[in-house]
Amino acid sequence: MIDLKKFEFWFIVGSQDLYGEETLKQVAADAEVMAKELARDPLLPGTLILKPVAITPGVIKKLFADANAAPECAGIITWMHTFSPSKMWIQGLALNSKPILHLHTQFNRDIPWSTIDMDFMNLNQSAHGDREHGHIYARMRLNRKVVAGFWQDKEVRRRIGVWMRAAAARLDGSNSVVLRLGDNMREVAVTEGDKVEAQIKFGWQVNTWGIGELADRYDKVSGADAEKLVKEYEASYELAPELKSPGPARNAMLEQAKIEIALKAMLEAEGAGAFTTTFQDLHGLPQLPGLAAQRLMEQGYGFGAEGDWKQSMLLHAAKVMASGLSGGVSFMEDYTYHFEPGKEAALGAHMLEVCPSIAEKKPRIEVHPLGIGGKAPPARMVFDAAPGPAVLATLIDLGDRFRMIVNEIETIKISDAALNGVMPKLPVARALWKPYPTLAGAGESWILAGGTHHSVYASALTSEYFRDWAEMMDIEFVLIGKDTKPDRLHDELRWAEAYWSGR
Ligand code: MN
Repeated sequence: MIDLKKFEFWFIVGSQDLYGEETLKQVAADAEVMAKELARDPLLPGTLILKPVAITPGVIKKLFADANAAPECAGIITWMHTFSPSKMWIQGLALNSKPILHLHTQFNRDIPWSTIDMDFMNLNQSAHGDREHGHIYARMRLNRKVVAGFWQDKEVRRRIGVWMRAAAARLDGSNSVVLRLGDNMREVAVTEGDKVEAQIKFGWQVNTWGIGELADRYDKVSGADAEKLVKEYEASYELAPELKSPGPARNAMLEQAKIEIALKAMLEAEGAGAFTTTFQDLHGLPQLPGLAAQRLMEQGYGFGAEGDWKQSMLLHAAKVMASGLSGGVSFMEDYTYHFEPGKEAALGAHMLEVCPSIAEKKPRIEVHPLGIGGKAPPARMVFDAAPGPAVLATLIDLGDRFRMIVNEIETIKISDAALNGVMPKLPVARALWKPYPTLAGAGESWILAGGTHHSVYASALTSEYFRDWAEMMDIEFVLIGKDTKPDRLHDELRWAEAYWSGR
């Protein structure tokens, strides 16, 4: 779990120096009450820090310059307690590099009907001041999230919390590395992409290491260390019977334990938060990292199969956003459809690499042949994903920009009738879902948008997290949900070409 308290969020309350000492004192006091209460609410996972009331262009410019220079500042929340003329904000906003949330609220919930007078109106004019403030973001074409409502309402706080999590993932990524072991799978288009542009947009460094370096580290892991890690497996998961005593199956699990130890040491040495593998480049390794990849995802690392560094990066970002939330986040792949009328569903899995954080029950470690890659049968965790709402998110490179596509789905039980007798010949981690708006509608929309077969599956997150993250990254966001109509989406995707080509 990643500690989100290490990410600071600066709360900047706007006013102006026309109102006199008394009013400004009251503004500062109200802001303090709000900041204290908001900081205590677990719905807001970051550390909220109240800044001095922003009353002049000089103060405002300095606040944003200081925020830019503060490495732990992940984002800025602005709110106008009174009117705060927005030309005062232009210089500050022009140099700002942090994500912005414009909170449109007011200190008092109710109008004090019997006592309201002009002094009250002057002090409590967010309805007025926040419109002036919102105008300057619109005028300057600045990305931001606007959250409106009373600041004590749970829904308002939940939405601030979502944005904080996305901003934490953004800042975390700007200090992170995708460690690519080998290149992406030969001839595949959708896993390709512009790694320079990725670093410019996302902050992530996407670099390649030879598989030989991992193989060298693997060779040096002692049998005793692997046995020790297997003790941890025994405590956390079920083991298939043939893995409990010495033999080829147990050895396969021990090999995965050695890969996990070697790969984790390599990730730590390089400061990497994510990695990729490819079954076409495993020279010196006995197996494709299966169980090892699952275990490292469970520990918060991003993973992409077949060299898919974009999904690996996004998966780690999703892990940061989901830190401490119930539900899980995993690498996923659309595999096979069920077209039976009324029971339409998609079966998601990967050859091996699905994260156990999405499992319904305790996963079981098994060893089976893979049928691809020409290596030894790999150990992997086998389980079904927990039913409930989830999303699939993917990142693609369109040549001139990145596009994020998110599909809202409902994961269902693989079988209510025969839990152990379903798909006995498919011993991998599996998820079965009904996508919105329908299986066909989601398929048409995803394909029109150019989405990959790889995605980040998140039962811990909703589309709002990914929308906020995409907004901060200044990339295109396409949602496929209950109200999506593929024909309409087709048009919207074409309109988006005009928007993005003008930037
Ligand atoms: Mn794949």
